[in-house]
Amino acid sequence: MKYTFEISVSGCETECAHCYVGGGRAAAVSFGDYVKAIAKLSGILDKLEGEIHVTLGNEIFTHPRISDIIYATRELIPDYYSYRGLSGFIPTTGISLVNRKDRRELLESVKRADCSGFMLTLHGDREHHNTITQNKLSFDAVKACAKWLCGEGLDIKFNLMLSKFLIADWQKIHEFIADFPGAEKKLTIPLYLPTDRLRKFQRYRAEYDDCARLSGKLENIGIKEENLFDNCERNIYAKVNDCVCFDYAEEENKLPEWTFFNITQAFDVFYGNAGLHTRRLGNLLYDAPDELAQKMITLPANYDWSAYYDTDKLPPIESVLRDIKPLNTNFVYSSIHDCIYSWLDGMNVPNIIL
Ligand code: SF4
Repeated sequence: MKYTFEISVSGCETECAHCYVGGGRAAAVSFGDYVKAIAKLSGILDKLEGEIHVTLGNEIFTHPRISDIIYATRELIPDYYSYRGLSGFIPTTGISLVNRKDRRELLESVKRADCSGFMLTLHGDREHHNTITQNKLSFDAVKACAKWLCGEGLDIKFNLMLSKFLIADWQKIHEFIADFPGAEKKLTIPLYLPTDRLRKFQRYRAEYDDCARLSGKLENIGIKEENLFDNCERNIYAKVNDCVCFDYAEEENKLPEWTFFNITQAFDVFYGNAGLHTRRLGNLLYDAPDELAQKMITLPANYDWSAYYDTDKLPPIESVLRDIKPLNTNFVYSSIHDCIYSWLDGMNVPNIIL
C-alpha cells in the first residue's frame, strides 16, 4: 500500500475557484502542538507498511513559523517528508512568500526538505487571474515572486490552469512567461469533484471548442499538445458510447493501492483523498497512536471512485447516460472519472464527503 498524509498547517490568502481542497482563510497551527503531533505521527508511520509520503498543505508560507515547522518535520520524520517525491517543487501563490522579511531564510529551510524550486499557477490576465483566486494582489504576486526566485537562482515552474480565461488571454500569458525563459511550464486541467466550489467552477471550465484555439500554441513553450488534445478527444461526446460497458467495480480494481489522509489545523485525522474528508479517525494530539495506526491499516485504498462515492449505490452507467442526455456542454476534464462525477453530481447522486 502507498500512503499520503497531507497536513494542513495554515490557510491560504486566496480562495481559488478550482480548489478541490477547499482552501481559504484558516488558522495556523500552534508550533508547540505541531511538534507534539508530528512526534506521535512518527510512531504511527513506522507501523504502516508501504511507501509513505507526508506533505504540508495549503499555502504554507502564510504560517509565521513555517521555517521552524519545516526543520521540525525533517527532524522528526526524515524518511517520510521530502519534496523530492513531489518533483521537488513547492506550490505557492507567492503572495506571502514575496512579502516576508525572512524569505531568504525560508529558502534555506525548504532546501533542507529537498525542494528544488517553486510552482506558480497562472489562470489568465491580471483581472481574470485575480477573479479565479479571489485576491486582487495575486497576479502581481506571481510576477514579483517569479522575478525574485529567478534572481535567487531557484527553479520555477508555471502551472497554466486550463479555463476559458486562460485560453482567451493566451497572448498575454505567452508574453508574461516569455520574461522567464528558463521556467518550466505545464498545463493542468482542473479536477471535477462533487463539491460546491467545483460546481461553481463549471462556469469557467474550458470546452472542447475553446481548447481547439490552443492548437499550434503549446509546443513552442515546451508543453506537449497531444496530451491536451487526447483529453479533449476522450471528453463527453466522444466517450459516451464507450461508457456503455463501464463498470464501477472493475474501474476501482484498476486503481493504485493508495490511501490518503488529511490532518487538519486542529490535528483531527481524516481518511479522504484530495483534501476531502470521508471519515474522522481521531485526533493526533489526544488519541492513542496504536489505535490510530490500527484504523489506518484496516482501511482500503481511496484513490478515486470510493474516495467520493459508495460505489455499491451508484446508478448503473446506462441510466446515467440516459439521464444526462441531451448533453448541452462539452467540458474538458482530466479523466473520464471526473466527467462521470460531474454527471452523477448533476443527477444529485449522494456522495460520501463529510
Ligand atoms: S488552490 Fe492552493 S492556493 Fe488556491 S485556495 Fe486551494 S490550496 Fe489555497
